[in-house]
Amino acid sequence: MTPDATTPDPSARKKRAVTRRCPMCGNEAWRIAYGMMPPSARERVPKTVFEGCMILMESRENPASGKTETGAPKWVCQNPDCRHRWW
Ligand SMILES: [Zn+2]
Repeated sequence: MTPDATTPDPSARKKRAVTRRCPMCGNEAWRIAYGMMPPSARERVPKTVFEGCMILMESRENPASGKTETGAPKWVCQNPDCRHRWW
């Protein structure tokens, strides 16, 4: 028996919105998605910020090791007064 791949799975059509709490202000933060996404794909991932192909590297202090790390932010705070980005 092999699973029928052509059968649409209603639960896979819409992804559950995943949010986080901003570590700076406690507001809701959304995931950042990179890469070109057609509008139909964007509708399937609610509460996501689309940054296009520009991956902005940012640096941060790692409180555990004390070293400066660079990376691409995965989360952005939705508080307009904060806009904190982190990963
Ligand atoms: Zn914030």
